[in-house]
Amino acid sequence: MTEQTTFSDTDLCVKCGLCLPSCPTYSLSKNENESPRGRLALIQGWAEGRLEATNTLTEHLDNCLTCRACEQMCPAKVPYARLVNDFRSETANANNNNNKLSWLERSLIKRLTGQHRKSLNGLLRFYKKTGLNRLPLRLNDYLPSKASANHFNKTYPSLASTKMGHVALFTGCASEVIDSKTLKDAIFLLQHCGFEVSIPQNQHCCGAIDLHAGNKNQTLKLAQNNQTAFSDKHYDAVITVASGCGSTLLEYDQPVSKKVFDISDFIAPYLSSCSFKPLKASAWLHTPCTLKNVQASGTDIANLLSNINKLTVHSFNSQQNCCGAAGTYMLTHKETANTLLEQTLAPLKQQTTDYLLTSNVGCAMHMHAGLKQAGLNTTTLHPVSLLAQQLEV
Ligand code: SF4
Ligand code: SF4
Repeated sequence: MTEQTTFSDTDLCVKCGLCLPSCPTYSLSKNENESPRGRLALIQGWAEGRLEATNTLTEHLDNCLTCRACEQMCPAKVPYARLVNDFRSETANANNNNNKLSWLERSLIKRLTGQHRKSLNGLLRFYKKTGLNRLPLRLNDYLPSKASANHFNKTYPSLASTKMGHVALFTGCASEVIDSKTLKDAIFLLQHCGFEVSIPQNQHCCGAIDLHAGNKNQTLKLAQNNQTAFSDKHYDAVITVASGCGSTLLEYDQPVSKKVFDISDFIAPYLSSCSFKPLKASAWLHTPCTLKNVQASGTDIANLLSNINKLTVHSFNSQQNCCGAAGTYMLTHKETANTLLEQTLAPLKQQTTDYLLTSNVGCAMHMHAGLKQAGLNTTTLHPVSLLAQQLEV
C-alpha cells in the first residue's frame, strides 16, 4: 500500500465481461455502471478528465462492496480493489460512504476503529441512556450493550508439552470490542497447539474501514503504527481471526505482511496432535469474501472441523455471493446488504441448523442479526470457537 495513487491500470481492462456474473451488485441491478467493468470505465473516464466526479458517478463506485469477487475472475489481473480505494480516496470530499451515517453512528465507528476504544463504553452508555438506541439507527442491530475492550494479558504461555513457537495476535478493533470470545478461543487453541501468544498492546485498527471510506491517509498511519507494534523479530507469525483485518494486513509493506496468517491456516498442521470431544450437531460453514478472494490459502476449514466427530458440516455453494456485510456497507447500503443477506441465509431457513460458522466478525454480526430477525436459534461462531469448545484438555 503506497501513498501514491495511479489510475493507469484501468487500461489493463480488456472489457471481456468475464467478471460480470460474479459481481453481486451487477447481478442484482443488471446495470453496467454497477459492474466491475463499468466502474473501471467510470474511473478511467474521470482520471482522463472526460467525466466529472458527480454524485451519480461516485454513487456507482460507493455501491461496490469491495468483495473482490471480480478480481478472481479477471484474466487481465486488473487490481480492481486498489483502483476503487484510490478513487474513493481522491474523491472523498465529493462523496463518502460514511456521510450516509448519522453523527452518532460515525462517532461510534470512529471510537471503535480509533485509538481510544476505552471511551467507547461511555458513548455506548450515552447511546442507551438517552434512548437513542430506540431510534431507527442502523447500528442498533449490531451493537452490544457493553463494550469489552482490552481485557487481554500481554502474553500467554504455551500449554503443550512441546513448545512450537511464539506468535503475536492481531486483535482488531471490532473483534476486541464486540467479539472478544473468538480472540480468547484463538489464544486457548494456540496455547494448546504449543504456542506462546503475545498481544502487542500498542496495536491499532488495521485501517480497512478507513480505506473503504476513502480515508487512505488514515489507513497508512494505522499501518505504520502496526508495523512498529508487530516488529519484534521473535514473532514467528502474526495471527488474525477476522479475515477482513487479515486481508488488509496482507496489503501492508513487509516485514509484517509476510508473517500474516489467518488462524485456521496457521493451526491446521497442529490440530492432528489434539483430541476433540464429539458433538452431535449440524453447522453451516460460511467463507467470507476476504478469506475466499484475498487471503485464500487453500485451507479446507470443513476438513479441520472433521476433527470433531458427529458434527455435520454443510458448506455454502462455491458461487456464494458476498453476504452484504462488507465493513460499514451493511449500515450505509441497508437495502442491498439485506437482499444479499436474505440470499445467503436462504439454506439455513430450509433446515434446522445449530451453528453458523464464519471467519469474519463483520459477516458474523450481519448474519447473526439476520438469523435473529428470522426467529432462528442458530448460534453464530468463528470456526476456531467451535474447535476450542470441543478441545479435550
Ligand atoms: S468488488 Fe464485488 S461488488 Fe465491487 S465490482 Fe467487484 S464483484 Fe462487484
Ligand atoms: S474480467 Fe477483468 S478485463 Fe474482463 S471486463 Fe472484468 S475487469 Fe475487465
